[in-house]
Amino acid sequence: MLKLNDPSLLKSQCYVDGAWIGEGVDAVDNPATGVVLAKVPRFGAAETTAAVEAASRAFKPWAKKSAKERSVILRKWFDLIMANQEDLAQIMTAEQGKPITEARGEVAYAASFVEFYAEEAKRIYGETIPSPFPNSRIIIQKQPVGVCAAITPWNFPAAMITRKCSPGLAAGCTFVVKPAPDTPLTALALAELAERAGIPAGVLNIVTGDAKAIGGVMTSHPAVRFIGFTGSTPVGKLLMQQAASTVKKVGLELGGNAPFIVFDDADIDAAVQGAIAAKYRNMGQTCVCTNRLFVQDGVHDEFVAKFAGEVAKMKVGNGVEVGVVQGPLINERAVEKVERHVADAVAHGAKVVVGGKRHALGRTFYEPTVLSGVTTKMLVTNEETFGPVAPVYRFKTEDEVVAMANDTPFGLAAYFYSKDLGRAFRVAEELEYGMVGINSAMLGTEVAPFGGVKESGLGREGSLHGMDEFVEIKYMLMGGL
Ligand code: ADP
Repeated sequence: MLKLNDPSLLKSQCYVDGAWIGEGVDAVDNPATGVVLAKVPRFGAAETTAAVEAASRAFKPWAKKSAKERSVILRKWFDLIMANQEDLAQIMTAEQGKPITEARGEVAYAASFVEFYAEEAKRIYGETIPSPFPNSRIIIQKQPVGVCAAITPWNFPAAMITRKCSPGLAAGCTFVVKPAPDTPLTALALAELAERAGIPAGVLNIVTGDAKAIGGVMTSHPAVRFIGFTGSTPVGKLLMQQAASTVKKVGLELGGNAPFIVFDDADIDAAVQGAIAAKYRNMGQTCVCTNRLFVQDGVHDEFVAKFAGEVAKMKVGNGVEVGVVQGPLINERAVEKVERHVADAVAHGAKVVVGGKRHALGRTFYEPTVLSGVTTKMLVTNEETFGPVAPVYRFKTEDEVVAMANDTPFGLAAYFYSKDLGRAFRVAEELEYGMVGINSAMLGTEVAPFGGVKESGLGREGSLHGMDEFVEIKYMLMGGL
């Protein structure tokens, strides 16, 4: 069973209006073992409406606090998250499967948004604009948008919540959050720490249960002014459509189809390490994980040999075991998609260099896999695999690879390795992506704007720009002066 320093962080109730409510119904299990960790409530429309109303009541008093007061509370939340990093990581690995070192890293990453926006709370500056009218002044003030809703995925059970809520809470907004059904326990533990930090009742509410019913209220209730979503593109489109009826602001972080390009002039060893990080983090289950590796003719064979050699060494197992770098996939549906993609690639002529099947450990473990001889006719080219499969394409020219990389409706993250400075600028500017890693595969940081173009989403999270979603600009014209 899960051993925590502070067992009271393991919750089986929702957090609404400062109270722990609801009865545990839906089981949350450990994908590595099948053990049920806890049961959480199955809330529907009525309970979600009550949570929105609580957030609505809490909005004015929270918004009226001074920025410094909100900042102090958020900073306390950050301190508590870091003080409980190990317990949060244990809960996360247990419900999600990622290796414990990655879980610890995610907790620190999640906390970094709370810290960053605790600081930014005090810097939501307005403007004055020289007025064209006589005896007048134009003043711009930024005000919190109001009640916000957030729907988050299972691949980053902590960071996707703090990345959305921290800037909003800093600005004076209140939240109703629906975590993914696979990973509600990390979210509820964060709420427990928020309560201990002194976030007032109703300011941060967490509901678990029926996704459609909860999403339906979040997108239709007139009090909700912003809905933030991280998840699949089809669900993002649906929520955007639903939110249109009451013209809510939307922030969407959707699917990706990240290219990873290795040019002939690259540092091959660095590119191999980058590809490992960009592909296999969280078992390939992140929206910025590379989905397609393009390697130039001259270095193709060397790269594939070195890359596959590294992949073959990866230890697969329960994420809490020492040395494990690949845990189980989130669920059976995820493994089936990976199997479908590999079978399709092989049927169309791709070669399995390493891996290629379910792992001997059973359950949802899958062997880290490298495919070569991949062509654009295969499923892996057009769909996000979201698993530990690296399909390698061979290319000849820069123009050809840029066209291949951009030939997708998605535009979240892209990566390339090259030592040529001119090429670095040319390619980075040509890639139709919101984020580009050049000789680097680690994009995530609270200080930079995370987000995509095309069907990968709307808006940015993190950095100063992440605050824009949560403030309205008020223009005040003062006449008769
Ligand atoms: P995945 O396929 O990776 O689980 P989803 O986009 O389905 O990605 O899930 C992301 C989040 O969206 C989860 O919290 C899930 O419960 C939620 N979700 C899924 N379908 C809906 C829906 N129709 N309305 C609202 N939320 C939904």
